[in-house]
Amino acid sequence: MPVTFNNIILIFRMDSVKKYFNGEVTVVWQPKLCIHSAICFHGLPNVFNPKERPWIKIDGAATEQIIDQVKKCPSGALSFY
Ligand code: SF4
Repeated sequence: MPVTFNNIILIFRMDSVKKYFNGEVTVVWQPKLCIHSAICFHGLPNVFNPKERPWIKIDGAATEQIIDQVKKCPSGALSFY
């Protein structure tokens, strides 16, 4: 389902859970929970960029920065372990 936010077209698959591992942390994205708040890609655009595939670049920032940003996801679509 395409969603437009600030002239950025977001296309998310709504039916799968994606996991991204950098050797230290695994980020989990559950598209069906995403409310497209844009908080992740405004906060850490080197990691979260909906214009690219994969849209999460797990090597784009330090693990601590990624965890801090994931914790700010308002819907629970992003989590980590
Ligand atoms: S912060 Fe969470 S709810 Fe907002 S766009 Fe990112 S994944 Fe979706």
